Amino acid sequence: MARVFLNPGHCPGIDPGAINKRSGITEADIALEIGTMVKKYLEAAGCEVKLLQSDNLNYDGVGECVCEAANNWPADVFVSLHCNAFNGMAEGTEIFTSRGQTAADELATCIMSRVENTFGAKLYVRSEWLDGDVDREAGYVVLNATNMPAVLYEMIFIDNDTDLEFLLANKDEMARAIARGVTDYLSK
Ligand SMILES: [Zn+2]
Repeated sequence: MARVFLNPGHCPGIDPGAINKRSGITEADIALEIGTMVKKYLEAAGCEVKLLQSDNLNYDGVGECVCEAANNWPADVFVSLHCNAFNGMAEGTEIFTSRGQTAADELATCIMSRVENTFGAKLYVRSEWLDGDVDREAGYVVLNATNMPAVLYEMIFIDNDTDLEFLLANKDEMARAIARGVTDYLSK
């Protein structure tokens, strides 16, 4: 049975992540809500799923360590869920892998294919980072300190009201697209 590790980003009460100023909705809360839905769909598809949202990403904080938990399990696939934030106007969905060409690129492609199929032009797909060779990608500890194919998915820009409203209206579709992307990858 394939083991999928889900890591909703940030940590409610400790690190809310990005916040939508108008609604007060936080990245940590929405990542957990959608991550919990993804877990349900993956389990229904026969996967073993561990979900951990923790401020401790890499052996240096309080609480259960995300990378350690994924590596020790060990997970076959690692998916971190986040929301972007920039200037209130930037929009869309994008996925990150660690630097270089790895199996994570295929995982990223599977997830983004499902996202594109599900939402079409309704959700702008920012694909400039998908090839895995952009420096910006190397900075994420959950991608670099995990031993299995790992992606970090920025579902939307939470500081963009239009993006947030779209996600809130399509939480279930988003969760299903992510889960299907993962199972597409696992069945290859
Ligand atoms: Zn984040």
